[in-house]
Formats: sequence, C-alpha cells, structure tokens
Amino acid sequence: MSFHKLGLASEILRGVQKQGYTEPTPIQSQAIPEVLAGHDVLAGAQTGTGKTAAFTLPMLQILNTTPRQHKHAPRALVLAPTRELAAQVGESVRLYGEALRLRSTVIFGGVGIQPQINRLKQGVDIVVGTPGRLLDLVNQRALDLTHIEILVLDEADRMLDMGFIHDIRKIIRLVPDERQTLFFSATYSKEI
Ligand code: AMP
Repeated sequence: MSFHKLGLASEILRGVQKQGYTEPTPIQSQAIPEVLAGHDVLAGAQTGTGKTAAFTLPMLQILNTTPRQHKHAPRALVLAPTRELAAQVGESVRLYGEALRLRSTVIFGGVGIQPQINRLKQGVDIVVGTPGRLLDLVNQRALDLTHIEILVLDEADRMLDMGFIHDIRKIIRLVPDERQTLFFSATYSKEI
C-alpha cells in the first residue's frame, strides 16, 4: 500500500515525502480514506503507530480544500491530554502542513495566557490544546469554538484518566453538533 492510494492530494503527499515516510502505517491506511470521506472515526491506536499523521494529514487536506465559513474562528480542534502531546501534535500539524496556507497554534496551561490570546486574535485555522486552558480561553472570550468543523480527541483514554471528562463534555457542548469527530484511544474501557 502506498500513500498515493489513500486519496491524499499532492501538496499533502509532498509533506509526507519530506518526512521520509514511504509507506502508510496500518492506522494511516485505515483511517485516512475514512476521514477524507467525511466520516466520524473511532480508532484504537497506541502511541508510536503513526496515529498523529492518521488524523492530521486528512484534516489538513479537508481544511485546505474547503472554504472557510467564518473569517477568524478556528475550524479544527485537537484535544490532547498533556502539554507534551499537544506540543508534539502541534509540531506535526506545522510540519505536514508546511506547504499550505493554514495557521495553527498550540494551547496549554502552566504558561502565560496572554501570548495565547494574542495569537488567537490574529486568527488560526487549527487549535491543538489541553482541555482546561482551552476552556479558560473560551471563558475569556478569546477562543470561539462555534465554527469548529473537525474535532479530534487524541489519547482519549489518557484524558479520561487525568480527570478531563467534565472539561471534554463542556467543550463538546460548545462545538457545533454538525461536525466531524475523530476519536483516538489506545484502550477501550466501558467508560471510554
Ligand atoms: P505517532 O504514533 O503519531 O506518535 O508517530 C510515531 C512516529 O512515527 C513519529 O515519529 C512519526 O514521525 C513516525 N511516523 C508516522 N507515520 C510514519 C510512516 N508512515 N512511516 C514512518 N514513520 C512514520
């Protein structure tokens, strides 16, 4: 199986090539066509399986090929359990989307909020962040989630373990009902 068969556009494939990836991993070959088809995806994937690219590549392609409906508000939101993972996903979004004109930012707590507010004011397409600080920004009216088209929950089981369930429920109430949801978890307990 090659990346070319997954339905990815040439500008996205160039980003993949630049990373030196020759073949998609199993989670990538399974998830990418489904995401591109606009479906919700519930995936089981451990860290190290290439799951980040499995949602990031098709997400970038969708955002790059469909017109934005609102001038300023973000169109995609990726929720991650820790600042490290948020930063890592943010870096992948930046790298894979280098050739595209999409803007992204990473949000997490434990650092000053003002630079994050300033960045959001400039307008971004993709926000990657941890749930608590994202809600702080919504409460301060610095982050508008009412135009989110794609919601990604990355490492959902870890977010649950870390007690983010209430924050996640709140965030889900803030994003439009009509959206694409991509759910990634290493484990699937009853709670998940
Ligand atoms: P992840 O599971 O998303 O944390 O990815 C684990 C590592 O695999 C990262 O360092 C990626 O750069 C790398 N990776 C992702 N997709 C591929 C691929 N198709 N071929 C080779 N390496 C990859």
